[in-house]
Amino acid sequence: MSETWHDIDIPALRILRYPDPRLRKECAPITSIDGDLRRLVDRMFELMFDVHGVGLAAPQVGVTVRLFVACPTGESDDRRVYINPRITSLDGSQEGEEGCLSFPGIYSKIKRADLAVIEAHDIDGRAFEETGQGLTARIFQHECEHLDGRLLVDRMGTVSKLANRRALKELEEKFASTPR
Ligand SMILES: [Zn+2]
Repeated sequence: MSETWHDIDIPALRILRYPDPRLRKECAPITSIDGDLRRLVDRMFELMFDVHGVGLAAPQVGVTVRLFVACPTGESDDRRVYINPRITSLDGSQEGEEGCLSFPGIYSKIKRADLAVIEAHDIDGRAFEETGQGLTARIFQHECEHLDGRLLVDRMGTVSKLANRRALKELEEKFASTPR
């Protein structure tokens, strides 16, 4: 992990909103699992559960490393951690409403593979493989795209962009007027 990562004030992390440029960064692989990474993961779960999310990627809190957390069941003890994840297989298709914690209030119909196989490491550094179907497969695909700086808005079709035009513009205006 880069030096800058260890200087981050973890309790101060918040969920970044579109169009924050940090959401567009290509994330770096994680090279070691330590106390800071565990604290980051805990903070990400806290932020995700606060808003009843089912997935959150590290770049969404401004830490550009290849990590996401997920809770497809919505149960607070269902805490799945994916370090350096890689989707190895996609199959079938599903179409459904998809949202993103960095796009509050925006939902779009998005076509995804219905089955996704992912390889990753858990918080103890163990390699594992998981096959996700339906919502879990959707989360895998959505969160892995975050790690490459790809966002919900890139996936939205023309109709959906038009339908959400006002909400997108409001997010852009809010970001532009927020002091940083
Ligand atoms: Zn997202």
